[in-house]
Amino acid sequence: MDGLDVKSLYINELESIIKGYGQPAFRAGQIFGWLHEKLATDYDIMTNIPKELRSRLKENWPITVLEPVDERRSSADETVKYLFMLQDKRVIESVLMKYHHGMSVCISSQVGCSMGCKFCASTIGGKERDLTPSEMLDQVYRIQALAGERVSNVVIMGTGEPLDNYDNLIRFIRLISDPKGLNISPRSITVSTCGIPDKIRQLAEEGLPVTLALSLHAPNDDVRKQLMPIARSYSLSQILDAVRYYFDRTGRRITFEYSMIDGENDSEEHAYELVKLIKGINCHVNLIPVNPVKERNFTRSRTEKIQFFKNTLEKNRINVTIRREMGTDIDAACGQLRKRFIENMQQ
Ligand code: SAH
Repeated sequence: MDGLDVKSLYINELESIIKGYGQPAFRAGQIFGWLHEKLATDYDIMTNIPKELRSRLKENWPITVLEPVDERRSSADETVKYLFMLQDKRVIESVLMKYHHGMSVCISSQVGCSMGCKFCASTIGGKERDLTPSEMLDQVYRIQALAGERVSNVVIMGTGEPLDNYDNLIRFIRLISDPKGLNISPRSITVSTCGIPDKIRQLAEEGLPVTLALSLHAPNDDVRKQLMPIARSYSLSQILDAVRYYFDRTGRRITFEYSMIDGENDSEEHAYELVKLIKGINCHVNLIPVNPVKERNFTRSRTEKIQFFKNTLEKNRINVTIRREMGTDIDAACGQLRKRFIENMQQ
């Protein structure tokens, strides 16, 4: 429990603290419910907990709460982008997307990112630190409270590489899927990764059937190395072996994300190569017209090229969708609102 705050603790860990205070163990379940189901931000409202225990907890185990500092609503769809301030004054961003099947929240897993993908705004300043489990949870909790509606899906696709913050990620998933908390099933959670093979294998062993989304973005190692520094450490064949293993262990269909960048990864040849690369994997391909980032000179592929990719995959019976661009009018693309906020603060 070293270094963890109260909202990052499992019930049994909370129990040992409570017992240490000479209080009955069932209090742990009550407090857990207040924190993770009723989304309490303060011990004061836990009126069924004896006052003395509350003040003891308040003193030793302060509750981490994110502070909303900005909110942008898309006029085009119902996407809302939130900026939250952490206790150390750093800021992170999260996005709420409303679909016909429910509310989906996209959360950050780190402050900044060290992966260095060439098309991504989140990585420009490097990684500042990992997020704690409670900081990941509270992005969902605050958004649910602010929106006043139940969150049904969580995607860990915001700033950061979740598998580079592995232990906190696992704790986050276990806590948010706890029946005594928000009870969001692992099947409704997606973990997006740039592809770290040993961590993908480790995730396959956790008994948590989350959807794995792999940021592929290239049909071969050469193109991938141009776009993603991680490709210099691991080949596509190593990564896809790990992905196949993930499917074998969990039975969860894999999502491949492919950002389409004009002149980089969108030729007809690339489309055929992609088919060859992933054929036989039970998967779904998400084609994403790249979001232009001010600091990068990439532009999105032409519509005909995206359509050609889609047709080629479909002809080979590979599931594919072109991702609906949501909230582009509010800088919803990876890391852009956060960057702008920090730049404005520094002026
Ligand atoms: N590090 C993780 C999760 C965060 S990035 C990962 O790599 O998957 C989430 C997704 O957004 C990734 O697929 C990433 O490649 C993609 N992405 C980043 N910047 C983008 C941009 N400018 N346009 C389109 N997709 C982008």
